[in-house]
Amino acid sequence: MDRDNILLTPGPLTTTLRTKLSMLRDWGSWDSEFNAVTARLRQSLLAIVHGQDSHVVVPLQGSGTFSVEAAVATVVPRHGHVLVLDNGAYCKRAARLTQMMGRRCTVVAFADSEPVSASVLEQHLQSDPSVTHVVMIHCETGAGVLNPLHDVAQVCERHGKGLIVDAMSSFGALPIDARTVRFDALIAASGKCLEGVPGMGFVFLRKAIVDACAGNSQSLAMDLHDQYVYMEKTGQWRFTPPTHVVVALAEAVSQFEAEGGQSARLARYTDNYQTLTRGMAALGFKPFLDPSVQAPIIVTFHAPGDPRYDFRQFYAAAKARGFILYPGKLTELETFRVGCIGAIGRNEIEQAVHAVALALQDLGIASGRPREFA
Ligand SMILES: *Cc1c(COP(=O)(O)O)cnc(C)c1O
Repeated sequence: MDRDNILLTPGPLTTTLRTKLSMLRDWGSWDSEFNAVTARLRQSLLAIVHGQDSHVVVPLQGSGTFSVEAAVATVVPRHGHVLVLDNGAYCKRAARLTQMMGRRCTVVAFADSEPVSASVLEQHLQSDPSVTHVVMIHCETGAGVLNPLHDVAQVCERHGKGLIVDAMSSFGALPIDARTVRFDALIAASGKCLEGVPGMGFVFLRKAIVDACAGNSQSLAMDLHDQYVYMEKTGQWRFTPPTHVVVALAEAVSQFEAEGGQSARLARYTDNYQTLTRGMAALGFKPFLDPSVQAPIIVTFHAPGDPRYDFRQFYAAAKARGFILYPGKLTELETFRVGCIGAIGRNEIEQAVHAVALALQDLGIASGRPREFA
């Protein structure tokens, strides 16, 4: 039986056969059966963050970035002022789209090897009261750093600022509780830790701010308030829904629930992460991050110091064994990334480490030890 390549990337991810098979049907977007799938899915998503009382969830067509852009455009008034806590590539993308939406944007920069700091945020909010909203990335997928959501949310609440959280690569795996962490918008997508297929995002909006969002968006297609109002009224998506993606996500979420929900998923990913780092260490590889700031989602490794190393060849050699690696996203250092997420477990990670060992052999490299550690 042939097996798909195992995707060790930050999405799209390896999905289960059940999830793949759920896509072998055509659905009418207007049909009540499909609308029931959407409604059930929205309930399940709200339950994952314990947000039934405090939040609504609005799905949106497109990749995850579409939903981040939609959230900023919908939640931040045209004359709002957004402060972006920046410790990596996805933060920079959020700042860029905020500027392109025409919102005033201040970027507070941190090193990409460190979490953003709630106390530095507090100083900025004290010195610049014009800030209306803060944007943070929960797990910065660029390097793999876990950012302090709880602390940042507390500072925002204390200062009366809106908080927009890109939780794309953490949602479903790391704990997020809307009863104890106050956010105005939190964004995730189908093709990440819920292990659906890519094609839609979803945004949790705090009920208390939903009405005030009317008219903020300068985009028709990306207006989450409009999408929400229409969906509440009709049970339907405003424009053509990605029907197969929705049904696959509903199927993936039912497997997520059967597995034991967020805590079970975190346990599996943590085991994947530990198996990966142990195996890679035995081959001489060094992770870029200190383990204390590392989320068990995606690991950045230094490139081997051996002059024969070439990422493209290394990638091709791992792919020949059925494993898809991911390039690094740091500007200063040569790195590559390996994801711990998706419908995979310890066996697949052990096989992946073995494939990496064989890839090194192919390239004639004795050890993964980077130059910095020679
Ligand atoms: C994957 C991801 C996104 C969305 O990326 P798309 O390519 O648009 O799906 C946004 N933020 C973070 C932190 C991510 O990991």
